[in-house]
Amino acid sequence: MSKIIVMIGAPGAGKGTQARLLSEKYGYPQISTGDILRAMANADTPLGHEIKETIASGNLVSDEVLAQVIKDRISSEDCTAGFILDGYPRTLDQARLLDELADQQNKDILLVHVIVDEELLFKRLTGRRVCTKCGEIYNIYFRSPKRDGFCDLDGAPLIQRSDDTSETVNRRLEAYKISTAPLIDYYRQDGRLIELDGDRPVEEVLEQLSAIIETF
Ligand SMILES: [Zn+2]
Repeated sequence: MSKIIVMIGAPGAGKGTQARLLSEKYGYPQISTGDILRAMANADTPLGHEIKETIASGNLVSDEVLAQVIKDRISSEDCTAGFILDGYPRTLDQARLLDELADQQNKDILLVHVIVDEELLFKRLTGRRVCTKCGEIYNIYFRSPKRDGFCDLDGAPLIQRSDDTSETVNRRLEAYKISTAPLIDYYRQDGRLIELDGDRPVEEVLEQLSAIIETF
């Protein structure tokens, strides 16, 4: 049975890294709805125009359109063995729609939740500093530059992005918890939830995840 792996994790939990490694290991395509929507919005098709208008007006693309987009994408050949979803589903309605799609395609769904200690997350995000010239990323807790506030590579000043201030980070983490709790419960109920300890080294996390996927 082929698999649909849904990855979720708080901002900074390393979910993206695990998704990429998993994709490389098993050849599962990594499907991000954000990427697909952006690509479709640039296409000269009726649906493309509709999506472009929706995004431009600041509204969210409807569940129906999103489901159609996902359905089209996962019907392509590279998804036969399985695929990884990033950024979808976000709501219970979407999760139910995805269950229907999975049924039609005879696929099993697993929700992989990468969990990281909150204090660590906080440091990962608020400690981040970016070079204003070359974009190199540092972290004042885990990877500090040789000279405080300046890039090792070119000596340019480092800045903190507005997304990474402690106030914004707290708000992002809180919003994440509130929005994902129902999804986590939904998949937990019938044993489709995998919780990974993301505090460990990347390779170890990947190994554990692979073992679970291969026996599922
Ligand atoms: Zn630099």
